[in-house]
Amino acid sequence: MPKPAITILHWFRVDLRTHDNTALLAASRESKGRVVGLYVISPADWKRHDESPVKIRFILRGLRELSGELAKLNIPLLIRTAPSVSDVPGIVARVASDCNASAVYANREYEIHEVARDERVAGRLASGNRNLSLFHDQTVIPPAELRTGDDGPYTVFSPFKRRWLTALPDRGGVRVGGAPLKQSPELVASMPPDPPLSEIPGFESEVPDTLWPAGEREAQRRLQAFIHSRVHAYKDSRNFPAIDGTSGLSPYLACGFISARQCLKHAIDVNAGLAAAGPSAGADCWISELIWREFYKSVLVNFPRVCMGRAFKPETEQIVWSDREDHFESWTQGRTGIPIVDAAMRALLATGWMHNRLRMIAAMYLTKDLFIDWRKGERWFMRHLIDGDLSQNNGGWQWSASTGTDAAPYFRIFNPVLQSQKFDPDGAFIRRWVPELRDVEGDGIHDPSELPMLLRMRLDYPQPLVDRASVKDRVLAAFKRSE
Ligand SMILES: Cc1cc2nc3c(=O)[nH]c(=O)nc-3n(C[C@H](O)[C@H](O)[C@H](O)COP(=O)(O)OP(=O)(O)OC[C@H]3O[C@@H](n4cnc5c(N)ncnc54)[C@H](O)[C@@H]3O)c2cc1C
Repeated sequence: MPKPAITILHWFRVDLRTHDNTALLAASRESKGRVVGLYVISPADWKRHDESPVKIRFILRGLRELSGELAKLNIPLLIRTAPSVSDVPGIVARVASDCNASAVYANREYEIHEVARDERVAGRLASGNRNLSLFHDQTVIPPAELRTGDDGPYTVFSPFKRRWLTALPDRGGVRVGGAPLKQSPELVASMPPDPPLSEIPGFESEVPDTLWPAGEREAQRRLQAFIHSRVHAYKDSRNFPAIDGTSGLSPYLACGFISARQCLKHAIDVNAGLAAAGPSAGADCWISELIWREFYKSVLVNFPRVCMGRAFKPETEQIVWSDREDHFESWTQGRTGIPIVDAAMRALLATGWMHNRLRMIAAMYLTKDLFIDWRKGERWFMRHLIDGDLSQNNGGWQWSASTGTDAAPYFRIFNPVLQSQKFDPDGAFIRRWVPELRDVEGDGIHDPSELPMLLRMRLDYPQPLVDRASVKDRVLAAFKRSE
């Protein structure tokens, strides 16, 4: 006798795509093509997690495209709003019951609050005899899987990368999944998709939507364009913010419009099938950056204190940071008197994105030169980045503040002026974002405080906030006291 048809509810979270979506594919396979999609809008939770308006708008536009792609497969996408995170279990359970689903599938989220929320959802579903099945999907290798020789978690990137590269072939390489089965139209007829919202009060953004077309098709287009034209030059061009040398895929990865597996597979394919030491130095280097992403996810899973605003190196909790609110304000608005930092911070406000080299310079400047607590910078970035991702943002900030996983045997303090001379040599990036310096010639563009007084007075540009000569001693003394 044929088994009665079962329906599975797939709860979309950070996986807004139809292709290579681990839980969605499993739901489709196991229900034999009876999947209903659900997305829960949680404005209060987004606020609590400092999600930026530009990212939320990107997600809403992505949901519209996802709903259209799912409709082509006859999969309805239901959209519900949770006034508070405590409403989520009830909402998921109600939708599961309304569509008579035997189970709810979702891809795992790893942050402390999300894990606790999922436990509450699982409990609520269990009382209706339903399971919540969670799948690893955000990384190529599940974040807690790799262990050191002493069976501990990795705390340093290079050994993590070496282990990751040997583990990949052991796991059968990178396997990329397709789209779920096209379903019969019966479910979608009985349960029409909800119209996706285009605005949510409290998440208005000045960044034009046209800068960041949303959705999985755009993500694939960007991946193809990068792999076919720019990846080979990546190693040489990736540090220069005036050049379009990186993929610009981080917002798409952060929302799950594309998977890390899809990115890695394409990079390996153009690298003669190799994840490292292949013929393309650019592809090798790009793959290495994707492994940094995996590393920071594993740090978050293995050291969940980093989700709670705590330092990766606990001893650095003792540091007494500067309380100069005026300095922090100048940094946020791009008025520090250091052109490369100001250009970076203004670009962030205008575009919702910042180049990796500039993130390091801006973060290092805030935490070393201004000696302001990394947590303040981390929060500002989250509130303005379109690719805000707790694990990556926290990892980048703690690395820059020397409270995190940087394994350098010396204390890292960037000189932002030297960084500027090296990575924006002709000042093209600065001129684009700091128009008051547009006509400054030569090296003065990197440090206008060194210009002759008369010339300087004609510029409507601030003097540096702190004297660089005292930075190193102040930082070293504070870190020494915390040991
Ligand atoms: C202070 C600070 C904060 C950061 N905050 C975030 C964040 O919130 N979200 C985020 O996705 N990335 C963050 N990063 C990492 C990095 O800056 C961005 O991932 C990168 O700039 C994205 O640009 P891209 O997609 O063009 O990268 P590409 O150079 O094309 O690299 C491809 C992918 O590899 C990963 N990657 C690249 N560089 C890094 C890196 N240094 N660390 C970890 N992963 C990397 C990203 O997923 C990226 O999309 C932060 C870095 C710093 C220093």
